[in-house]
Amino acid sequence: MDRRKFFASTGLSAAGLLVSKSLFGFDPQSSRAQPAVNGQPPKYDIVREMLKYPKIDAHVHCDLGNGNLEAQKKFAEILLDYAERFNIRKLVLSKPVTRLIKGIPDASPEAFIEHNNIILGLMKLHPDRITGSFTFNPIHLKASLEEIKRCVDQGMVGAKTYYQTKISDPSFYPIVEKMIDLKMIIHTHAETQLGVGGYRMKYNGNKPKNVSIPEDFVAIAARYPEAMFQHAHIGGGGDWEYMCKALKNSPNVYVDTSGSNNEEHMIDFALEQLGEDRLLFGSDNCYYQSVGKVLASNLTEVQRKKLFFDNFNNILKKGGNHVD
Ligand SMILES: [Zn+2]
Repeated sequence: MDRRKFFASTGLSAAGLLVSKSLFGFDPQSSRAQPAVNGQPPKYDIVREMLKYPKIDAHVHCDLGNGNLEAQKKFAEILLDYAERFNIRKLVLSKPVTRLIKGIPDASPEAFIEHNNIILGLMKLHPDRITGSFTFNPIHLKASLEEIKRCVDQGMVGAKTYYQTKISDPSFYPIVEKMIDLKMIIHTHAETQLGVGGYRMKYNGNKPKNVSIPEDFVAIAARYPEAMFQHAHIGGGGDWEYMCKALKNSPNVYVDTSGSNNEEHMIDFALEQLGEDRLLFGSDNCYYQSVGKVLASNLTEVQRKKLFFDNFNNILKKGGNHVD
């Protein structure tokens, strides 16, 4: 049975169950083997296939809703359990400020410093498996630059911003220039405004006005061709075809393939539009979907290797932070 037929006939949720069987109370070594059919070993073993590829998770969060370090430590243990079982060698962890105050995103330096402290705390506890991306808000330029220095000095490897300020906003310019000097990527939450969470909505429907859309990435990437940008989660519920087409001619914009949405052909379409060097693996804490959609794609062995590991490792290499 080829890969597509396997997924078509079992459904990804069933495929996910095969993986989850090994996650909760089963030894992955013993559950890895699928039952023989008529004495023949199975042609396609999803767990073995999944384990074949070492991974870097370029988009993963600690608990976004809880600021307490003790609770975060427990959450990190769960993440590390997933990492172990999914052969994820490095987690690029972040905690963007997602809280709204009276409907407006919290933009204060106190908030981003507090959030970065959580990541720094978890990095110190698990230095071999967890690294981090710092968050900040460029409208507070001095505080942001100081925060970037503080976080880089303690080993963080990139930037992560949310919907406080659009990536194309002029307040980002000095930060982008700093990131060029550091040779680090800027990962920004992104949506299409055509659809979120699997439903189609009208333009500007109920979203903070500063959410970055693909056009914002195109604009900042053209202004700073030597900078590197990561457009978050093409599987995050937006219109991924639109995203990929919009970013096609912006060679310094990468996309991560994370998100709970895993419509058929998403990965193949991204490859067709963006090429094999600009796709990054990320889970956004959705492991079955994010791994399953890559395994279900028609990418070659080499292309899968690039997506799961090499592309992001090459980015890390520029800043001297690569895994191998
Ligand atoms: Zn995320």
